[in-house]
Amino acid sequence: MSTSFVRGMKCRLCAKIYPVTPVNFCQDDFGPLEIDYDYDAIRAVLSKEKLEARSFNMWRYQELLPTDGEPTVGLHVGGTPLVKACRLGQALGFNNLWVKNDAVNFPTLSFKDRVVAVALSKAKEFGLTTVGCASTGNLANSVASIAASAGLKSFIFIPADLEKAKVLGTSVYGAQVIGVKGTYDEVNRLCTQVAFKYGWGFVNINLRPFYAEGSKSMGFEIAEQLGWRTPAQVVVPMAGGALIGKISKGFHELHRIGLLHDAPTTKFFGAQASGCSPISTAVKNGWDSHRPVRKPNTICKSLAIGDPADGYFAGKLIRESGGWAEDVSDDEIRDAMILLAQTEGIFAETAGGVTVAAAMKLLQQGKMDADAETVLCITGNGLKTSEAMANKVPEPVVIGTSLQEFEAIHQGHREPALA
Ligand SMILES: *Cc1c(COP(=O)(O)O)cnc(C)c1O
Ligand SMILES: [Zn+2]
Repeated sequence: MSTSFVRGMKCRLCAKIYPVTPVNFCQDDFGPLEIDYDYDAIRAVLSKEKLEARSFNMWRYQELLPTDGEPTVGLHVGGTPLVKACRLGQALGFNNLWVKNDAVNFPTLSFKDRVVAVALSKAKEFGLTTVGCASTGNLANSVASIAASAGLKSFIFIPADLEKAKVLGTSVYGAQVIGVKGTYDEVNRLCTQVAFKYGWGFVNINLRPFYAEGSKSMGFEIAEQLGWRTPAQVVVPMAGGALIGKISKGFHELHRIGLLHDAPTTKFFGAQASGCSPISTAVKNGWDSHRPVRKPNTICKSLAIGDPADGYFAGKLIRESGGWAEDVSDDEIRDAMILLAQTEGIFAETAGGVTVAAAMKLLQQGKMDADAETVLCITGNGLKTSEAMANKVPEPVVIGTSLQEFEAIHQGHREPALA
């Protein structure tokens, strides 16, 4: 099946149309380019029945993704659980709460596998053999892994002070990993120069229009898993600010091609860490565009982008949808990671703590509705940021092998049925 429903690329500022090439900005105004689809043609060929007969991974929506032919890499990405979160809901005060759990996305345990699957399938269509990225950690893991499985060479640029597991989870795939002594924004600037000088495919730079489309699949899945409905409220962690906008775009596309009963009216809530909160600060102050944060300082490194590429669009979406944004301290992040683990059995990374803590704050402030159907987007896995849990969870009690030694540390409760 050919999936070429792409008409071209369109500037998000002036709407000028460009052919599909590895370029990410408009020559007239430097506006970001976005993929433009023929929705009427997609509507004519795609039904719920057809879609539901396919495997449950992100490629079941391939007509709405920008590859020309069948995807060639990242074939098992997506299809993550949407979990009814009653115990977390009770703890936070939400009466109808869900968790979209991309902490268990295949293959590298974050939602970034969705964007990389598209970007690298597209890189192969362009005939590129070397790819790379500027990353706060999860993107590095994903590009290195999926490039390895695709037989592509990869150069991964990261701030030199990332979490150990994120560095190991990149190097193990044989990627060339370059730790740069600087912030993410400085790393990104260097990568832009490298991408243009060497002609490599940097997934979040010159391949960004394709990369960003992969995030829509999180929105497609949420709507399908709710029974082809969109939730009233969504809370999304923001780094570059792309994911939040693409979940919204995904909802609207499903409606446009006739797969949803009602037009989406979802309110979007953005979550950031207080140590790097350019977008939530802009929303809270009523600014049109964000002011860059020069020196991010938070345990949530995955969201620590001081000058987010999609910050303007994220803020606009949040305001226009009737949502809001909030940021949370490192202590609030740690406590929320533990709360999510101990109520739902989901060990999320620091970004998950940001999402849960921000939802709690927004509800307490009356910005969110306790009774409305709400989805929290959990985007990465806690085993990758174990440093954040140092001194937060007790060490195991160590004993010998006898029953007496166990009973020396435990007297009390026995199940009545066995008493
Ligand atoms: C990259 C990332 C995000 C945010 O993605 P953007 O599209 O850049 O806003 C959220 N959570 C995690 C864990 C990430 O790695
Ligand atoms: Zn333009």
